[in-house]
Formats: sequence, C-alpha cells, structure tokens
Amino acid sequence: MNQNIEKFIIKPGSKVNLKKFDTSYNGKLQKEEAKSELEIIHQKMSDMQYKIHAEKKQALLIVLQAMDAGGKDGTIRDVMYGFNPQGCKVKSFRAPNDVEINHDYLWRVHMVIPARGEIGILNRSHYGDVLVVRVHNLVPPKQWSKRYEHINNFEKMLTDEGVRVLKLFLHISKEEQRKRLYKRLENPLKHWKVDEADFEERKFWNDYVKAHEQMLEKCSKPWSPWYVIPGDKKWYRNLLVGQIITKTLEDMNPKMPKSTINVAKFKGQYQ
Ligand code: ATP
Ligand code: MG
Repeated sequence: MNQNIEKFIIKPGSKVNLKKFDTSYNGKLQKEEAKSELEIIHQKMSDMQYKIHAEKKQALLIVLQAMDAGGKDGTIRDVMYGFNPQGCKVKSFRAPNDVEINHDYLWRVHMVIPARGEIGILNRSHYGDVLVVRVHNLVPPKQWSKRYEHINNFEKMLTDEGVRVLKLFLHISKEEQRKRLYKRLENPLKHWKVDEADFEERKFWNDYVKAHEQMLEKCSKPWSPWYVIPGDKKWYRNLLVGQIITKTLEDMNPKMPKSTINVAKFKGQYQ
C-alpha cells in the first residue's frame, strides 16, 4: 500500500501549529493490514541497507524526537529490526554528563554520526538543546536562540559529506500521553520506566508544544526536512516510519560497486 509520505513533511519556511495535526490519523488502514505491510517494509529496509553497506559512500542518520512516552523506544524496537544490527547503531541522549557539559552541545552528537555505509539512530538528539534546554532555561535565551542556525549548518555539512539526515517527530496528543503514563503505573513490569520527571514535564506541555513548533519551523530544510508522524496509533506510526525510511534509502539510490575480480573466469574454475 503506497502512502503519500510527502504530506507528512513540514514545508521549509512554513508556520507550524501542532494542534492542527491529527495525532490519531491511521491512513484508513486496519491494524492487521498495517502489520502485514510492515513485514514487507522490513524486507525492503534490509535489502536497501545491504546496498548502502556495499556502496560505502553514504550514511543514513535517523533522528527521533517525541514528548515523554511519545514512542521513540517502541519505534526503534518495532521498526528498526528490519535492519541488520551489524550496520546499525542506536544512541540515546540524556542530560549531558560531566564531560559532555564542558563541550559545545554538538560535540557528543558529532561523535556518533554513522560512518559511510552505516545507519545511525538518535533516540533524542541535538534537538534537546532547543527543547528541554529552552523550556527550562538551562542556558540563557541569547545562547539557545542561536542554535537553530548552528543545527541547520551542521546538518547541511553532514548532507554535503554524504550523510542523509532524516528527522522524525512522533506526535502524540496530551490525552494519549496521559493514557500511556497511566498504563505504566498499572503494570508492575513497567514501574522501573516510570520517572517522576515525566509527570513533572507534563506540566510544561504547552511550553514543549511551542518549542517543538519552533524547532519544526526553523529547522525543516530542503536538505533535511522534518516529518511529523501521527503517533497515537502505534501500528500506524510503525508502518509510516518504515515507509519513510524505505523511501529515503531508495532516494539515496546506492550503487552496487563493481567486482574487483573477473567473475566469469572464477565461475569457470569453480563449476
Ligand atoms: P521515555 O520516553 O521512555 O521516558 P526518554 O527518552 O524520556 O524515554 P529518559 O532516559 O527517561 O529517556 O530521559 C532522558 C532525559 O534526558 C529527558 O528527560 C530529556 O529531557 C533529558 N535530556 C535530553 N537532552 C538533554 C539536554 N541537552 N539537556 C538536558 N536534558 C536533556
Ligand atoms: Mg523519560
């Protein structure tokens, strides 16, 4: 089933009002349909990753951002297992540690940018430095307000050097977040995951919405646009993310390198 994925892109330069997005959109699909479609997508992801790896000229960087309980972990688990773990690394970003805090905020991100031929997934990213940092004034506005431009330049440099930057904002409603946090409280196996900060941060929901809107407006660029993914229905989110990743890898159009041996000659010898 071919979804029109272009419509989930934030057009560079456009205004963003997150309230206008339907977080429970499901593409008129049924859950079972979407699940079997995802299996086909997994195969395609794997085939394309093989080519990217063989070509060794480009890398794919997948940036995942979302509110708490927005589904970053679930997306990584359910969608990314289409990839061969040998060529795929995941890095989760929390508040900077003692070493990181003494560097510029892009330092820790630059260190984990995937090498040519590889795929990298960022579970939270440099965007934390214009989200949580902005909401809680962890650095003065004079400082964080300059970061949008740094980030755009950084991502442009990566793009020019062969790293495709794919940015996905998993967008859930406030009500869906409430349900998910409550579910974690109900299930003893999920208690370890419950963090007081999640409930505290929820009080800043509107500030986070504003910060995300600014991020989407200022940093959706032709070379690395932001996608807003309807996130309330996990099965639809998974399918859409899988489709966008596949389409991006296809766009990258990796070319299989020529063999270094005379294949016909060896075939003759080993028949
Ligand atoms: P879940 O959605 O499952 O709770 P999570 O991504 O919130 O997962 P946690 O380890 O619970 O993972 O939280 C990471 C924390 O790190 C978040 O509270 C986030 O705000 C914080 N963080 C990320 N980047 C920065 C940053 N640059 N400065 C300060 N805090 C940050
Ligand atoms: Mg958390």
